[in-house]
Amino acid sequence: MNIYLFQGNSVLLPETVPDTGLAQGVPLGALEELRAAGRTEGGTVPGLDSFTVPALEEEEASARIEGVSVNADFPLPPHWRALPVRQGLSLVSPEKTIDGKGPVGRLLRAYHIAQWRRDSTYCGSCGTKNTDAPDELARLCPSCGRREYPRISPAVITLITNDRGEALLAHNRKFAGGVYSLIAGFNEAGESLEATVIREIREEVGLEVKDIRYIASQPWPFPNSLMLGFTARHASGEIHPDGEEIMDARWFNPAKLPSLPGFGSVSRYLINRWIGGNL
Ligand SMILES: [Zn+2]
Repeated sequence: MNIYLFQGNSVLLPETVPDTGLAQGVPLGALEELRAAGRTEGGTVPGLDSFTVPALEEEEASARIEGVSVNADFPLPPHWRALPVRQGLSLVSPEKTIDGKGPVGRLLRAYHIAQWRRDSTYCGSCGTKNTDAPDELARLCPSCGRREYPRISPAVITLITNDRGEALLAHNRKFAGGVYSLIAGFNEAGESLEATVIREIREEVGLEVKDIRYIASQPWPFPNSLMLGFTARHASGEIHPDGEEIMDARWFNPAKLPSLPGFGSVSRYLINRWIGGNL
């Protein structure tokens, strides 16, 4: 059995596991090596949080996840390294599924839970230190009984096309290099996903859209999003980048594209399906 080890936003890998193996987890024996590095003279290992995540409904029970996360100052064994999960993702999932299944899905799920555990150490209502609920994946306050579940924040991402067979790609100021991608944004309280699609596109590039259609979703735990991929057709308006998030936006022909987002993301998945005439 393998185990997922985390520190901050990184997965921890011993020398024997290459970067491309990050989604498989590491052999259980590696945990002993890690524990040994953090063991104090008294024999305790402070700053280490172990957790188990049951398998998803459609998976076999053996697909449950064993994970451990360690504090930022936890000493790593010699020759170990911390690989940022988001950076490692592009190494392992070219063209692979984005549906949360398989090793990549398990890695992302383990990472999501590890971060949630770190952020839910204390009860959000009365401040008492939480325990783990015995019957489900939840934190349980031993004082006031409040349960806290892993937070999931829905966000939409939309591939907009026009009548000339072009798609709108935009450069966000947060994107590295000259990457162009799709318009995305978070769902707000009380808002339908379709309304989020319309609002985000209107705010960021000044266009009106129609024929909104859901395509696929992807768990995206950076830190806790669920990306919901849509397509929409241009209805009216000219492109006006907002100048705050979106620095440039243009219509692109599939034969001549800019730098695209990495494989393994729902944005690239939607773009590739559009290029392949499969939307
Ligand atoms: Zn409480």
